[in-house]
Amino acid sequence: MSQPHHRGLTVLAGPTAVGKGTVSTFIRDHHPEVWLSVSATTRPPRPGEVEGVHYFFKSAEEFDRLVAEGAFLEWAVVHGQNRYGTLRSTVDAAVEEGKAVLLEIDLQGARQVKAALPDARFVFLAPPSWEELVRRLIGRGTESVEEQQRRLETAKMELAAEPEFDFTIVNDSVQRAADELVSLMGLSATPR
Ligand code: 5GP
Repeated sequence: MSQPHHRGLTVLAGPTAVGKGTVSTFIRDHHPEVWLSVSATTRPPRPGEVEGVHYFFKSAEEFDRLVAEGAFLEWAVVHGQNRYGTLRSTVDAAVEEGKAVLLEIDLQGARQVKAALPDARFVFLAPPSWEELVRRLIGRGTESVEEQQRRLETAKMELAAEPEFDFTIVNDSVQRAADELVSLMGLSATPR
C-alpha cells in the first residue's frame, strides 16, 4: 500500500480505574505480537515500575523540552496533575514496520490522536457499571482521598465520551477484555 495508513494503530482509552492498565499489562505479558507504546510521564515511579518498561520517567524540564521539540504525537495533563505523552518517533517507526501498535492513554490524548490520525482504531474500555467503577477506584487504595475524588470527577466526564469511539469493550474480566481487544486488532486470542 502506497498511502500512509494507521490501521495498525489501536488506541485504548476509557474512564479512570476501569482497568486499562491491567488490560495492557495482560497484553504485555501474553501478547508479544502487540507493540505496546511506552509513554513519557512526569509522574514519579510507583514501587516496582521500571524505566522504559512502564514509562519513561521525565522531569518537568525534560518534558517541556520534548513538547518544544514536537516529540509528542499527543500529550495531556491527567487528573489535573502530571503530564503524560506518547512519543511520536517510536510509534511511527513501529507502525511503519507493520506492527500491531497499542496506545493505552487517557481520553484527551485519544481525541488528539483521532484529530491527527483519524483512520486509527479507537476502542473504549467501559466498566460493567458505575458502582463497579467506584469500587475499583476506591479498592485500588494507592491514591489519597482527594486524588480519588478528583479521579471520580474525571471518570464521570470520561464515561460520556463512549460514542466518540469505534468499539466498546466491557472490562468484566481482564483476560476476556484483552482477548476481545487483540481480536479487534486482527490478532488471535490468548490460548487457554
Ligand atoms: P497512571 O498514573 O495510573 O499510570 O496513569 C494515569 C492515566 O494516565 C491513565 O488514565 C493512563 O491511561 C494515562 N496515560 C498513560 N500514558 C499516557 C499517555 O501517553 N498519554 C495520555 N494522554 N495519557 C496517558
